[in-house]
Amino acid sequence: MYAIIEVGYLLATISFLGGLKFMSSPKNAKTGNLIAAMGMVLAVVLTFVAAITATVPYTNLTIMFLAIAIGTLIGKRLSDKVEMTGMPQLVSLFNATGGGCAMLLGLVEANQMDITTSILGNQILLIAGLVTGAIALTGSIIAERKLAGKVKDRRSKSVIFSARILLGLMVLLPVLYFFGIIPIGFTAFMYVLATLAMVYGVLFVLPIGGADMPVVISLLNSITGIATAFAGFVYGNKAMIAGGIFVGAAGILLTLLMCKAMNRSLLKVLAGTFKKSKNGIVEEEQDIKEISISETAMSLSFAQKVAIVPGYGLAVAQAQHICGQLQQLLEKRHVGVDYIIHPVAGRMPGHMNVLLAEANVEYSHLKEMDEGNENMEQYDVVLVLGANDVVNPAAENNPDSPVYGMPIIRVYESKQVIVIKRSMNKGYAGVQNDLFGLDNCCILFGDAKVSLQEIVNQLKLI
Ligand code: NDP
Repeated sequence: MYAIIEVGYLLATISFLGGLKFMSSPKNAKTGNLIAAMGMVLAVVLTFVAAITATVPYTNLTIMFLAIAIGTLIGKRLSDKVEMTGMPQLVSLFNATGGGCAMLLGLVEANQMDITTSILGNQILLIAGLVTGAIALTGSIIAERKLAGKVKDRRSKSVIFSARILLGLMVLLPVLYFFGIIPIGFTAFMYVLATLAMVYGVLFVLPIGGADMPVVISLLNSITGIATAFAGFVYGNKAMIAGGIFVGAAGILLTLLMCKAMNRSLLKVLAGTFKKSKNGIVEEEQDIKEISISETAMSLSFAQKVAIVPGYGLAVAQAQHICGQLQQLLEKRHVGVDYIIHPVAGRMPGHMNVLLAEANVEYSHLKEMDEGNENMEQYDVVLVLGANDVVNPAAENNPDSPVYGMPIIRVYESKQVIVIKRSMNKGYAGVQNDLFGLDNCCILFGDAKVSLQEIVNQLKLI
């Protein structure tokens, strides 16, 4: 039976790897998700089989079964209910459960571990899994609360200083403990560490705001993966080790890519140093030019090349399907249409790609930011759909702006920019958008879905 279980774990590991490979292209991402999910189901079933063959008490098996059943029900309910705009929050919550799991495993194992006979390596792995899991647990909960707008940024020096002290303590205390300087039992020590790590998780995420949020979410994801891998080492469970390493590595890679996209160094994010806007920053009066539905339809129909730049507002309005219809209508009139996607448009990495995939937009139409920028002058009209920060020229030319340094889609270099938004409200970073006052930019005020529907209706008449 042992051999069958090991082969099964190997198969699960291969499916995680295959799943990841498929996920590297938006076209196959759905299949990749399914393959990895099947691997996870296999791993869970095998764990049950392993537990039964190892004669785990009946009560424990019942608890395991109930926990999985309740977790599945809650997970399904949350996933069914969640709006597209709430996805990042849900991802953060699910991530918190992963971290919490790793922390609890650390506490349970510490309780059972005989500190006098167990090897030091195992104790260190247990501590590492517990600490990383606890940080991911509370950090992800705070990230969820912040994304939901329920918790505000706390950028005070005391928060950043306390976080650094805690980080130092979490490194120092285990060293002191293993030298016998802290005279408490191992389980009690693990509880102390878990508490410190949970507080650190809160303090670590609290000050981070605006442009750094995507980096942190991705980093917390990676931390959960690492915590799982540590727990896998403790149990000698190969599927857990491999799965954890894959999540950890993928999360770190994404984190680094995000850092690049936001022009933030990971060290600065980790150290809690933030770019702040200078006090008393003056917002210039802007000459806003409004455009009507019929004028927009005219501009689009006379264009040869149109680019659509989607942002968070597209998700809020749920305008992706009507956006796909507009694209088809324009193409019928021989107008070329591209979508230019900023890596942090929306509220989570890949947010826009998911939305556009829902509307069956072909991948050949999606252009990455750099490619879009290279060809920007060729576009007769750029339609900015519910995007704001990611097209703000202040990121390039206003060193006082909190978004300064973040690479943007340079829509201002196109011939005409039409921004669809409901009001003069600011974007996520809370700063004025210098684009709106430029000569080649006009705003079509209204909900993205309603406005696009009206544009489509007009185009059908022209
Ligand atoms: P922004 O948040 O900058 O702007 C969204 C725009 O959409 C606003 O101008 C808003 O204006 C408009 N809008 C909202 N609802 C509607 C609607 N129903 N119809 C039309 N317009 C609407 O979005 P971006 O995508 O440009 O930028 C993303 C921001 O989020 C960046 O600052 C990024 O750092 C941050 N972020 C990104 C994450 C990621 O991983 N992608 C994660 C966390 C944060 P109005 O209210 O006037 O309509």
